Amino acid sequence: MDRISPPPAKQGKPRRSPSRLVTVLLLIVAGAVCSTIDLRTLESEDGRSGGLAANAGGLLTPQQLSVAAAKWGLDRPPLVAPPRPAVKPALETPSGFFRGPGLIPAITRIPTTDKVVFLTIDDGTEKDPQFASMASELGVPFSAFVTDSAIRGDYAYFRDLHARGHAIHNHTLTHPQLTRLEPEEQRAEICGQQDIVQREFGTRPALFRPPFGEFDRDTLEIARECGVRVAPLWSEEAFPNRLEYRRADRKLHPGDIILTHFNGPRQWGGTMTDMLRLVLRKVTEQGMALARLEDYV
Ligand SMILES: [Zn+2]
Repeated sequence: MDRISPPPAKQGKPRRSPSRLVTVLLLIVAGAVCSTIDLRTLESEDGRSGGLAANAGGLLTPQQLSVAAAKWGLDRPPLVAPPRPAVKPALETPSGFFRGPGLIPAITRIPTTDKVVFLTIDDGTEKDPQFASMASELGVPFSAFVTDSAIRGDYAYFRDLHARGHAIHNHTLTHPQLTRLEPEEQRAEICGQQDIVQREFGTRPALFRPPFGEFDRDTLEIARECGVRVAPLWSEEAFPNRLEYRRADRKLHPGDIILTHFNGPRQWGGTMTDMLRLVLRKVTEQGMALARLEDYV
């Protein structure tokens, strides 16, 4: 449901200045950094894979990863993320956008030199059990940003993901264009979804992603008041047949956040396992590993 690059022109709220609107594209430019590519070794010193245990229900051995890679159609296993950072990086909204006291940071990447990127999955329309199995067997971490109107018919699927170690975060109640809403309407969408996720999953989301990547100052202030700490946007968007880059160099950079969706053949012409296979190929061939976003924010 989220827009594909480049974002269409914003219309904005009738009573609000268009200058208050922001675009993901500009944030990407502001957050762009250069990086070198190197290949990470698969095994840690003790011969076991590390860093992905939370999603797999236990450490995966290199042999288990190789078997899973072959089963799911990958030429080689995904690289393994390094241990989580001892101290989480300081986050800051890029200059030129809404930031200041009382506002949560809106980011498109994590400031880190670790060769890691983060997979985030939005909305919740498709509930694909094969995808859940594939992610677990390959030790793939991801974070879900759910919209209540898309998942309320099947909370059980997302409870299963949560039990497998994937965090469930806030993507509003009904997926509106927040910049067209009055503050109290935004509050109902954001805080209402905080309450529902807490009720259904037992944890109050720390992260909030505005639908379409569109937000204003009110959004970031209201999200903080509802208990959110960070608004992650994205640097790339994944589909079953391609990865769309928002930078001209068409490369993944350390700390990049990848957006995709709980979509299926009806929306995409491909499955979520097709999407994950493509993401893992692109991430691995560029010397990156998928890491848990919650370990860094
Ligand atoms: Zn969305």
